Amino acid sequence: MTKLTDLTIAEALKGLKNREFSAVELTKEYIGAMEEKRGLNAYVTETPEAALKQAEASDEKYRRGDNASLEGIPLGIKDLFCTRGVKSTACSRILDGFVPQYESTVTQKLLDAGACFLGKLNMDEFAMGGSNETSCFGPVVNPWSKDVKLVAGGSSGGSAAAVSAKMCAAATGTDTGGSIRQPSAFCGVTGIKPTYGRCSRYGIMAFASSLDQAGPIAKDVRDCALLLKVMSGYDVKDSTSANVDVPDFESFLGQTIKGLKIGVPAEYRPEGLNKEIASYWDKGLEMLKARGAEIVDISLPHTKYALPAYYIIAPAEASSNLARYDGLRYGLRVSGKHLDDMYINTRTEGFGKEVKRRIMIGTYVLSAGYYDAYYLKAQKVRRLIRDDFKKAFEKCDVILTPTSPVTAFPIGDKSMQENPINMYLNDIFTVSVSLAGLPAMSLPIGLSTDGLPLGLQVIGKPFDEAAVFKTASALEADAEFGRK
Ligand code: GLN
Repeated sequence: MTKLTDLTIAEALKGLKNREFSAVELTKEYIGAMEEKRGLNAYVTETPEAALKQAEASDEKYRRGDNASLEGIPLGIKDLFCTRGVKSTACSRILDGFVPQYESTVTQKLLDAGACFLGKLNMDEFAMGGSNETSCFGPVVNPWSKDVKLVAGGSSGGSAAAVSAKMCAAATGTDTGGSIRQPSAFCGVTGIKPTYGRCSRYGIMAFASSLDQAGPIAKDVRDCALLLKVMSGYDVKDSTSANVDVPDFESFLGQTIKGLKIGVPAEYRPEGLNKEIASYWDKGLEMLKARGAEIVDISLPHTKYALPAYYIIAPAEASSNLARYDGLRYGLRVSGKHLDDMYINTRTEGFGKEVKRRIMIGTYVLSAGYYDAYYLKAQKVRRLIRDDFKKAFEKCDVILTPTSPVTAFPIGDKSMQENPINMYLNDIFTVSVSLAGLPAMSLPIGLSTDGLPLGLQVIGKPFDEAAVFKTASALEADAEFGRK
């Protein structure tokens, strides 16, 4: 028997409209799943009472017939989003006890569309990480784990795990260098990072402002389309949000991809690329070819500089953004003999190791003596990477790559704990897209021989999410990954 938690958002909306079940019933099932699967550590704050109240209001709206587009759909919210009256911590001790007085634009839009919020989801501290292990609440367990507990990916690990384990209908995520796409791939779910500027960053705690973007993580491509439509749009409160039309993303699903040109970047197939991942990549290309798409070889020659550039620019912006956590304004305060002491004590206790590392790197590359050598250079490389994509997109409409060079690895993996660079290397396929500000979706394509999900990434031109949705829906239909 299918449970209500098995339904996609599109299916649930139908059931709600036809009064087959109520929003309260749907919400209660998700609350049950949250309780049953607490061991995954996906939620850091649960708000079942508020969710039920919202669901009751939704049921009333269905009765009156003035239901909104996501009326009664229970969502999980990454803890990086400020939610009014609900603890929002970025999974950092420094925001211990912080309860925002305002709502982020993206979550407000979801509320206005009738969604209800089940709680706040675990993540890497301030979204810095790729395994959800830097969270002050501890790691999220990947629902696909067997004997050994595996990471859910990061930084939106709680979001991906909660969707995968059906502890919410869908979730919000954010992506600075891969944080929506990589955990989606690790957990066998679908997530899209839209074009930079598509969603407002207002009320999302800043990590690297020129890279941060919100996006949905959902059970399938259609649900991503439904959610992204609601989450997108110009916002006067975010000067980098783009004043462009928001198309009905759902309308592109199932459209023909005949003649669509799919770019395959040579640089993304280094020697030693995991064979299974390479073979699923080829299978994906075959599927698209069989539907009449044309495969074109492209080159993104500056790919090898993307990781170093990202790991200069992101920490530089982070070091500046995180200067506001001084013990005076939000969350934690650890007293000291005088003001400077208080700053030092608060930041020493409040930030975890990875966040401190990034603040140190960031302040270093921005310091007077090194600014030109590192930060300015990285900015120039960023432009070259963007130009690579621009050139490539003269030859193709979308680009297909793997999402990650690896599948989910064990929690506490030594090689990555001992040398953070090994963790950073996992971001190889996602950071260039972020540096170029492009839209990209990760969707599950199949399982490894170990039974772990593998994801493919569809990259589009700026504000051409349409082509991404078109391509992804074709792949999804052919891959028949299903909702295993
Ligand atoms: N893993 C990358 C990092 O650690 C990306 C994180 C993100 O997208 N928020 O910075």
